[in-house]
Amino acid sequence: MKYETFISERDKDGRSIKEIKGTPVVTPVQVHGGKVAFIGSVPQKPPVADGLITDTKNLWIGVLTADCLPVFLIGEGVVGVVHAGWRGTLKGITFNAVSYINRFSRVKKAILGVGICGKCYEVGEDVYKLFPHEYKSCFKEIGEGKFLLDLKEANKIQLKAAGVSEIEDLNLCSVCNNDRFFSYRKEKTDKRTLSAIRLI
Ligand SMILES: [Zn+2]
Repeated sequence: MKYETFISERDKDGRSIKEIKGTPVVTPVQVHGGKVAFIGSVPQKPPVADGLITDTKNLWIGVLTADCLPVFLIGEGVVGVVHAGWRGTLKGITFNAVSYINRFSRVKKAILGVGICGKCYEVGEDVYKLFPHEYKSCFKEIGEGKFLLDLKEANKIQLKAAGVSEIEDLNLCSVCNNDRFFSYRKEKTDKRTLSAIRLI
């Protein structure tokens, strides 16, 4: 279970990073969905998905975010990475990715990457209402139809439900740590943080 992670910082727009340490990085066309794609080699066309999985050594798989939560998944001889905003979380993207890996391996560890924290992520009652009751503890009502959503908690619920016991949180928020990472909410930027993982 040897792997390496990479998280880009402000000095570089993650969208422009096509290789890391001389090895290519594959990123999907992200659609805030619940679909996961398996990557065996660099594809001619990037898959439309919000989670990538690979068992190929030295092939980086990554997601681009600016507030949404990247989740790294580490199994035996397999790694995954997930892009989880509220829409993808609602569609169970993290649960789906773990379940996919568990069909042929076992996710031993998950790492919650750089994403907006529960103190910074304000959403409306419309979003709150869409989530089923098991997620209500991830919301904090702040009045006038506004709620704070803890995306990391919501994804922890999915990880635990899928049987992942070891969960590491990097405790890095794109808004609180905006000096290091891009935040769409804070600065309305098109630039993105690249979060990538590879087997070595
Ligand atoms: Zn924050």
